[in-house]
Amino acid sequence: MKENEGVGEFQDMVSEVLIRHRSVLDCLSKYQESTARVNRSIIKAVTDCGCISISANKKQYPAKDSLKECGKLMDSHLKGKLCESCREVVAEELGKHLFYLTALCNTLDYKLDDLISNEHERISMLGHFLLS
Ligand SMILES: [Zn+2]
Repeated sequence: MKENEGVGEFQDMVSEVLIRHRSVLDCLSKYQESTARVNRSIIKAVTDCGCISISANKKQYPAKDSLKECGKLMDSHLKGKLCESCREVVAEELGKHLFYLTALCNTLDYKLDDLISNEHERISMLGHFLLS
């Protein structure tokens, strides 16, 4: 079985259902809007619900540890866990973001499956040297 089999089916379905936003301009604006909505849903979990909070300060890199060890020490700056309701909202916004990302791929004739595979390979090769 192919690794990302469902991805191709998802991309085909996005193409079928997306009639209004076939223009690359529409795709770009909806894609950008969906990014903002993902961010907003996470911010709302902090400021409206309060199930998670953000506590951040300057990153402290240990001087001699390996990069692998360093990753364990890096902080997400998140405290708490998303409650059921916020988790649902964030997941919905992430889903819409994937939808418009896929629509953008369709417009520019990229196969999402290929992008995932290529990125997977790139990450595998770079391993712990991938710092961004
Ligand atoms: Zn919540």
